Amino acid sequence: MTARRTFVIVGAGLAGAKAAENLRQEGFEGRLVLIGDEPERPYERPPLSKDYLRGESAEKPYVHAESFYSDNEIELWTSTRVSGIKASLRELWLEGDQRLSYDRLLVATGAVPRRLNVPGAELGGIHYLRTVADSQRIGERIDQGQRLVVVGSGWIGAEVAASARQKGCQVTMIEKGSLPLEHVLGPELGEIYVDLHRRHGVEFLPETTVERFEGQGSVERVLTRDDSSIETEFVVVGIGVAPRAGLIETAGIQVSNGVLVDEHLEANAPGVFAAGDVANARHPFYGRHLRVEHWANALKQGPVAAAAMLGKPAIYDEIPYFFSDQYEASMEYHGYATEWDEVVFRGDIAAHEFVAFWLKDQRLVAGLNMNVWDAGEPIRELIRSRRAVDLRDLADPAVVLSELAEAEPAMAEMDALSAWASEGGAL
Ligand SMILES: Cc1cc2nc3c(=O)[nH]c(=O)nc-3n(C[C@H](O)[C@H](O)[C@H](O)COP(=O)(O)OP(=O)(O)OC[C@H]3O[C@@H](n4cnc5c(N)ncnc54)[C@H](O)[C@@H]3O)c2cc1C
Repeated sequence: MTARRTFVIVGAGLAGAKAAENLRQEGFEGRLVLIGDEPERPYERPPLSKDYLRGESAEKPYVHAESFYSDNEIELWTSTRVSGIKASLRELWLEGDQRLSYDRLLVATGAVPRRLNVPGAELGGIHYLRTVADSQRIGERIDQGQRLVVVGSGWIGAEVAASARQKGCQVTMIEKGSLPLEHVLGPELGEIYVDLHRRHGVEFLPETTVERFEGQGSVERVLTRDDSSIETEFVVVGIGVAPRAGLIETAGIQVSNGVLVDEHLEANAPGVFAAGDVANARHPFYGRHLRVEHWANALKQGPVAAAAMLGKPAIYDEIPYFFSDQYEASMEYHGYATEWDEVVFRGDIAAHEFVAFWLKDQRLVAGLNMNVWDAGEPIRELIRSRRAVDLRDLADPAVVLSELAEAEPAMAEMDALSAWASEGGAL
């Protein structure tokens, strides 16, 4: 008779919950423990800067119904922090020194907001947004229509600014670069987003940073590097996140910008896997490690990790995908582009109904569809095909994208493709 095996998942977020679900679906009958340090059962974070923040959905965005965990014999330990792991002993311990041995371990600890360390940073009214509790605290301020300064105009900052404006707050957004979201989307899309926010009444202050916060107990004003003083009642800082891998650093598991895992999401230590925001996974399509901080990545890596933990030949090679909703502009982005030669548009930019294509060496490396909902699949196919595309076809709404993706490459393109592939073919 074989002993009952124990699989432990550290981190009860989306990746952890989906892994647990899939372990049962894939037939794992052993002991399954899902450990999270938040008081809530696993929930999804995207609504926390959107409808949930605005109080439009009273329900917390849980991943599963409450009964799901007991129905599936998943031991869900909430409000429980794992404080150490010893990979060589296949053991972890919790605060209070309780020990737990595992046969397989999934690290799904997510990410943590980067802190702004300036004088006054400890004042009340300065918020970060990661958890449902953070969202509730910020939501209370937004409900009162208070004045808000948002520091950082990445995804969190931009979405919070939009939600706050929608609820009638006066919003100032401070950005150390020139445009919102420019670090991911580049200047072409950054211009569209700055225009969107300004038209909705956000005061956007580019190329400046916070020098200090001032106030009596709670923040009352923000002083910037260029000597502006902005009166405010609360602040939301959204300056990016860092992988929550501190726990792992002393565990004997390789960490480099997150937990370093292969395409099966397996780490260098026996029986250890990682998924979601914390995983820096080797991506077969890009031929390099990639750490992705997006909902779809957590959703889809969880099941792959589950299969791999059971010894199945699962590989994670999804084209990165994320979405964002700001005011009337909802969009999806597919791909991964750190450099490109040009951005081609099709559709109506002013009406926020368009598709943008990022091209490198005439090949599609990323695409964004705003308020256009049939472009995702062909964009991903075109990226995967690595075929040269005619820019006029991309820009022309009369050319059906899916047909472009399916078209047979011409002979000249075939030659170019095989030459490119033989040179290494990765980004
Ligand atoms: C406000 C907000 C809005 C977002 N909007 C979008 C969006 O519109 N589109 C998009 O694509 N993505 C969005 N994201 C990103 C997306 O939500 C994340 O990529 C996703 O939540 C990652 O899931 P995860 O399971 O890897 O990590 P998490 O959801 O962070 O879960 C990890 C869990 O592990 C717990 N944990 C960590 N360390 C320990 C420990 N030592 N012991 C026990 N528990 C531990 C954490 O507390 C947490 O509960 C948003 C994120 C936020 C915060």
